[in-house]
Amino acid sequence: MIITLKTGLAQDKIGQLALQYKAFHIKDCNKDVLITSSGLKELPSEIAPYVETVWVFDNDMQLASRKYRKDTREVKIGNVVIGGQTKNTLLIGGPCSVESEEQITSSSELLLELGLTTLRGGCYKPRTSPYSFQGMGYEGLMLLVKMREKFGLNIITEVRDASHVEEVIAHSDVVQIGAKAMYDQGILRACAKINKPVLLKRGFGTTLQEFVQAAEFILSGGNDQVILCERGIRTFETKTRFTLDLCGVAYLQEYTNLPIVLDPSHALGYAYGVTALSKACAAMGVDGLIVETHPNPKVAKSDASQQLEHEQFKALFHAVKPVSAAVGYHLI
Ligand code: PEP
Ligand code: MN
Repeated sequence: MIITLKTGLAQDKIGQLALQYKAFHIKDCNKDVLITSSGLKELPSEIAPYVETVWVFDNDMQLASRKYRKDTREVKIGNVVIGGQTKNTLLIGGPCSVESEEQITSSSELLLELGLTTLRGGCYKPRTSPYSFQGMGYEGLMLLVKMREKFGLNIITEVRDASHVEEVIAHSDVVQIGAKAMYDQGILRACAKINKPVLLKRGFGTTLQEFVQAAEFILSGGNDQVILCERGIRTFETKTRFTLDLCGVAYLQEYTNLPIVLDPSHALGYAYGVTALSKACAAMGVDGLIVETHPNPKVAKSDASQQLEHEQFKALFHAVKPVSAAVGYHLI
């Protein structure tokens, strides 16, 4: 249940109600809001005198639902905005992993050439083998910071575990929570306390309900800047790395109020179809695309087969732009 309280109530009183009903207390559009489990179906009579509006739900998709908020939330990334009334599709580009200053500078220059604003690059990589490249860690993060200082780009990088969540939060413009980390309560709770956008990726075995509930951890803790990212789920198919769940995207667009970014690179796992998939995603009017690109994919230290050469990335940008325009969106 979501309860919007009348204005002017003493904070002590609100705290007492929250404690009594095991509710989260957040400020939303300058209102005091209490959120309980969706199991609560009837407003307790003691709260009734203090209440402005009540929403009852059949499941714990509450703050993220269109039932609570009809319009898609607006999220600001530096000086660009997605969601809300914007009809922007933000193209985020960059390598899977930050590997060197030369490499990340080259990717930054590629974005600038296309007039793009947001650079991705992993520094703490959640690899499936302990023997693979694990990322440059803090040194890589500092290279991303350098790119922001030098080129004015917004940076998005991933947090792998709670041990470095604070430094990623401190230095990135968007905190990425990866498909493997999305169940990590330490990360979710840390990201709930910040005033920065969080790109939450869907785990490859995660149902839509679980995915949205992970977002609820962040929203109910007080951070309303959550972006959902579909990056492919595991199916019986082995020819492609994962299966991009566009049905799931349609569901999320219909029932949630969160901006949605699609990641065709991790879904397919191969560079050859990333442009075609990006066009399909853009045609759905999504809020963003995140695409891996590397100055020399053959020698990439992670996800080599799916990263686009810079020329391919430029071609993707020019191929997707008219598709976005055809559905009334701007590829930015
Ligand atoms: C990545 O973005 O490089 C990444 C590891 O993605 P995911 O968490 O979706 O596997
Ligand atoms: Mn990757």
